[in-house]
Amino acid sequence: MKRMFTISRQFTFCYGHRLLHHSGRCSRLHGHNGMVKINLQNDQLNTQGMVADFVDMKTSIGEWIDQTLDHRVILEKNDTLAAVLQEQGEPVLVLSVEPTAENLAKLIYDRAVDFGLPVCSVSFWETEQCAAEYREMAAETLMKNSEE
Ligand SMILES: [Zn+2]
Repeated sequence: MKRMFTISRQFTFCYGHRLLHHSGRCSRLHGHNGMVKINLQNDQLNTQGMVADFVDMKTSIGEWIDQTLDHRVILEKNDTLAAVLQEQGEPVLVLSVEPTAENLAKLIYDRAVDFGLPVCSVSFWETEQCAAEYREMAAETLMKNSEE
């Protein structure tokens, strides 16, 4: 049996967005109080007896979320609203993909990897009821699953 330690830390941030390819009300500009849970994993602990220091999570990915996502409007690159808001001095985060919960989970996952955190998954709650999760699986796991 293989042992595994997992730790997680949550962060919250407010953001605005709209989904250009949505047929319903999500195509209109609106905001969310988002909550993200970043899960780190390792089969062994460091010399401090930790997977990672919670403080290090706060000063790396937590700071990035605060600086980059909090109180921002997050738009897809083809959204004409981006230029209008930028003209007014509003800080806009422009993505190459639609700013859905799924894509925001992946965005935060990728940044956590960049910070050197042993991230195994990121869950993102757009509302209290609706969440998306992003994780990456080893190629052999994917092949095994597709054979079943
Ligand atoms: Zn929304």
